[in-house]
Amino acid sequence: KQPIHVVGGGLAGSEAAWQIAEKGIKVVLHEMRPTRETDAHKTDGLAELVCSNSFRSDDAENNAVGLLHAELRAAGSLIMKCADANKVPAGGALAVDRDGFSHAVQSALETHENIEIIREEITQIPPAEDGQVIMATGPLTSPALSEEILRVTGENSLAFFDAIAPIIHTESINMDVAWFQSRYDKVGPGGTGKDYINCPMDKEQYEAFIDALIGGEKTSFKEWEENTPYFDGCLPIEIMAERGRETLRHGPMKPMGLTNAHQPDIKAYAVVQLRQDNALGTLYNMVGFQTKLKYGAQSEVLRMIPGLEEAQFARLGGLHRNTFLNSPRLLDDQMRLKALPHIRFAGQITGCEGYVESTAVGCMTGLFAAHQALGTDIAPPPVTTACGAIVNHITGGHIDREDGSGPRSFQPMNINFGLLPPLDEMPKHPEGKRLRGKEKTRLKKQVMAKRGLDDFKAWVATV
Ligand code: FAD
Repeated sequence: KQPIHVVGGGLAGSEAAWQIAEKGIKVVLHEMRPTRETDAHKTDGLAELVCSNSFRSDDAENNAVGLLHAELRAAGSLIMKCADANKVPAGGALAVDRDGFSHAVQSALETHENIEIIREEITQIPPAEDGQVIMATGPLTSPALSEEILRVTGENSLAFFDAIAPIIHTESINMDVAWFQSRYDKVGPGGTGKDYINCPMDKEQYEAFIDALIGGEKTSFKEWEENTPYFDGCLPIEIMAERGRETLRHGPMKPMGLTNAHQPDIKAYAVVQLRQDNALGTLYNMVGFQTKLKYGAQSEVLRMIPGLEEAQFARLGGLHRNTFLNSPRLLDDQMRLKALPHIRFAGQITGCEGYVESTAVGCMTGLFAAHQALGTDIAPPPVTTACGAIVNHITGGHIDREDGSGPRSFQPMNINFGLLPPLDEMPKHPEGKRLRGKEKTRLKKQVMAKRGLDDFKAWVATV
């Protein structure tokens, strides 16, 4: 049998190579470091953690990333095995000794009889005669390969300043204050005239909000980020506010064409709009609210918006260089490039965000490729699982609007319970009392986490 080629020995590539090799199939893993460096990696080790040493919460019963840990362990993940073996104390989080972790991954891959590691930069997409290929070159994919990917996918934007707008769990928005309405009640393709959630502000609230934006602590640019352009010229809200106190009121916060359903006689001075972010409607993003305010300052400032006082953020806004594919348009549900199906993509380049998520996509992609080579194709895990939810988010779980705004609005995201379908039935209080607020959310997460892990174990038993 031909070997499967994996390009990129980061978190996703290392995990994919391991999963394939464990199925008895030969793998050639191509890693460019140390021949060619990236702007963030510091060593030539495989699975180097470029920034923090944390895999985030290890609580599989209450937390979505903890659920992802548990699923990956159930799938025999190398990254999780090496993380567990190199754990450092970090409360409920799984944090690792980064060098010990990277050495453990590298040594397991180097000594596996089915794996060959070649240190070289790949600059061309290999032809179909070379067999299956997994591209796992990460957010810092080398420029030559990025250009080649642009060429074969026909896309015109791959690397950009990723100005990210925050995303909020719908159930945490106070609909006694906010209301559903599209601007001028416009019914677009597939729309209802009530497609947006609107949060009103009076003059005093607006002025206080602008002051907080201008005064809030911002993330500064890293040297190597300075030459990357803004995506589509979209500016962070605090920079718009600095340019003029009225700028936001004439931009993303304009109140025109909107009538407060709770107080129709009072004209709002400014309005913040939120747009549905996933097909399930469990998440809404803040339209035009990309920001580089630091996380602490950001949630504080955004909770000043009427209706968002108790907002729970699925993702906060941010600004950093990022390279990712327009995956919903380009990839099938097996992570294959539709135009060149011998090529799969894995890891952060596909539009997931984070170490654990990149590992999960590497794990799934490795399993898909291995089973294809064995002639026993498998379906992705169900969307009730954390792994299935990420694959679904990447390959089609977003809203594919007829006007084409769906795939374009696709943004990298961490795993969160909003990516999983809601429960068929609400959990009941153990003593029959009415469930409310935080207790209700906590119980819901627990039931969703249990459902996810049960479903994942059933799926993994079939592969
Ligand atoms: P990587 O781990 O980056 O692996 C890609 C590999 O491909 C690298 O080893 C690279 O050298 C290699 N490669 C690239 N091009 C080629 C080529 N042409 N030929 C051969 N090899 C190639 N996530 C978190 O959870 N926590 C954080 O603190 C965090 N901090 C981040 C900081 C920065 C600066 C960046 C850019 C991202 C950060 N992320 C963080 C996001 C993300 O989770 C990590 O980037 C993660 O490492 C992605 O995994 P990956 O396997 O997709 O890519």
